[in-house]
This record gives sequence, structure tokens and C-alpha cells, in this order.
Amino acid sequence: MRYIPGIWVLLIGCFLLITGSHSVWAQSYDLVIKNGHLFDAKNGINQPMEIAILKGKIAKVASHIPATEGNKVIDAGGMWISPGFIDPHTHVFVGEKPRVFAGGSSSVFPDAFSFRSGVTTVVDAGTSGWRNFEHFKSTVIDVAQTRVLAFLNIAGGGMSGDPYQQDIQDMNPEMTFNMIQKYPDLMVGVKIGHYEGESWQPFDLAVEAAALSNRPLLVECHLPEYSLKEQLRRMRPGDLLTHTYEHIRDREPIIDQNGNLLPAVIEARKRGVLFDLSHGGAGFWFDQAVPAIQQGLTPDTFGTDLHRFSMNSGMKNFANVLSKFLALGLDLEEVLEKATWGTAKALKREDLGHLSEGAVADLTLLSIRSGSFGFVDSAGMSITGNQMIEPELTIRAGRVVYDLNGISATPFKKVK
Ligand SMILES: [Zn+2]
Repeated sequence: MRYIPGIWVLLIGCFLLITGSHSVWAQSYDLVIKNGHLFDAKNGINQPMEIAILKGKIAKVASHIPATEGNKVIDAGGMWISPGFIDPHTHVFVGEKPRVFAGGSSSVFPDAFSFRSGVTTVVDAGTSGWRNFEHFKSTVIDVAQTRVLAFLNIAGGGMSGDPYQQDIQDMNPEMTFNMIQKYPDLMVGVKIGHYEGESWQPFDLAVEAAALSNRPLLVECHLPEYSLKEQLRRMRPGDLLTHTYEHIRDREPIIDQNGNLLPAVIEARKRGVLFDLSHGGAGFWFDQAVPAIQQGLTPDTFGTDLHRFSMNSGMKNFANVLSKFLALGLDLEEVLEKATWGTAKALKREDLGHLSEGAVADLTLLSIRSGSFGFVDSAGMSITGNQMIEPELTIRAGRVVYDLNGISATPFKKVK
């Protein structure tokens, strides 16, 4: 009996040695983010929380994670932590063709604009079709660090300009469906847009391809031949209308001459048709947005319609667009929810837009600046707001890909 206490001392000693050595020589996590305010709509979190990342995934979310557990530690004091933003409407099939969107200079490379505005996933809105998707994949999607998903255009060559976009013979639901089947993880749906004729056949072919692939249709038509009322009637629940607040000659606006939402818009929303902002260069007008928001029509998703023209217009970037909606009276929480989990749900990509343990570590740290900020619409009108969402740091699959103020960097010490 007198030997038992000695054995216990030995066992406890071994245990302490093992656990002690673990904390000294082998941190549990690649990265720990401390002292931030976590907003994760899917998990109902809107409070101070700490996050640990391991091998590109969210490993732990807790009110306290010791700094000693992280190989690297980031202090997010005073900042919001959000899942990485998802931009559902961009044109990123950049290439060598002058003044063309599909494989040309009117598109932009995703990494150049995504991370600095807190975006970790962009969706290309039909810049490619079934004929050139694989070229888009090899030249952009496979090369970018940003996650790039796609709506596939019903036009075989995507946005290759005219006359290709007008060729109904090249709008093939079977071929579109086949390409979506081939790359199901990259494809979120089908797009119809930029057809200028009077036939409804292209629209119906696009609906057919979307139905075959069991994915939403993105409708980006601006043309009087396609009346808004008839477009909305043909759209299914879950399909997305773009350029919700557009007010140009070539398209019926959603607000009538008396300042009221069109009954067809109210009815479509009740049926579950979704309304994407699709700001673009000409797609956002305060004379539509202000009364629409007052009457309850906020955007379901905040597509920027990023391309080389829109990014230098009133649109600027994703974070600026979100800040514009704060100035229009939306809450920060509502804006963040729609920019993350809300968009993931609309795209039927529920693996994204949240920071559950086990999810991919795509996230952004945000400072909410106070001051006086101006926001511009497509008519050249401006409003002022008092908050600006400023992305400080963006993480994609566990790696810091953007760090505005060097909060993840090692402080430089003067060389003596
Ligand atoms: Zn577009």
C-alpha cells in the first residue's frame, strides 16, 4: 500500500509533462483571433467571441481562447468579425480581347478587388457560356485566390458582344445543363441578359436550363421588349432579378409615377422572387431605392455588378455599397446578414457565409468608422451618411490575404 501514492505522483507528473509540453512546443491552432465582436447570422451570434483556425477551417468559436493556443494571434479589439462577404454579381472573365466582357478587358481580375473590400467569394454573372466556360475556368477561376462561382449564360459565348448575344440558335439548355453538371461545385445557376430582340424564346430557354440544373435563374435584361411585369411573371421562386433600383430609359422602373412599388413587384416578392441590388454603373438610383426601401423592398443580396466601368462610378466596391445602405437607414446587422448568410442561402451554397466550427475559414475583420461620408448614385445624386464599413483584414481559407494596417504583421524594430 505504501507504494500507491508514489505511483500516483509519477502518473500525475507524466500527465503534467505531456500537457505542459503541448502548450510550450505545439500550439493547437494556426491562428487565434481575439477581442473582436463576432457577427454570424446563421449561428445567431452577435457578441464578443474569439475564433481559432486550423488547416484552413474554423476550429473553435468560444468566449475565450488562450493566446498561447495560437501559432499566430491577431488582436481584433474594436472590430467586427464577419464571415467573408459574397458578391453574387461580378464580371471577372478578364482576358486579352479589347472592350469585351468574355475573355476581355471590360472584366476585372477578382483578387484585385475582392479581399480589400472584405469579399472572399465572387459570382461571375454569366460572362461565360457553355462554349467558353472552361477557358474562363483555366485562366481565372483556377488561378484566383478568391473563390469564383458562376452563373452560366444561356448564350453559348456568354457576354461576347453582338451578334453572338443575339443568336437564339446558340442558346442551348442541354449544353448549358451539361456544363453545369460537369462542374457542379462552381455553378450556382443560369443567366439571361443582353438579348435585344422581341422573342421570349431566349428567356424561356434560360428558365428551362435553370430548371434542368435545379438552380436559380439570374435575370439581367434591361430592354423594353422584355416588360418587367412579364419577366417577373415568368420567374420562379428563388430566381433573382438584377438592377432592382435601376431607372433608365431602356427599362421599366419598379416605382410607378405616383411613387409606389408596382403591384407586379410586390406580388413577385410574395412568391419568393429575389431582388439583387446589382449596383453597376447605371443600376442604382436613389429615386427608386428610397421609396422602395420605405415601402419594404430592401435588396435580398448586394451584387455590385463589378466591372471596369462600375468600379469607378458610384459603386466603388462591396464595402462602400454596404455603407451606402447604412446611410439609407438599414441596420449594420441586416446589411451584414444579407452580405453573408443571406446570399449563401440565395445561391443554395449553405456551406458558405457562416463561421461554424468545421466551416471554411473565410472571414473579414471590419472597422466601423464614424464621420461624414458621401454616397453617389447612377444619376449623379449624392447623400451623406455617418458610418463607413472599412475592411481591416481578410482571411481566405485560413490565410491572411489582405491586412490594411498590418495587424497580423510583426512589428518592425529599429536596426541598431
Ligand atoms: Zn452584370
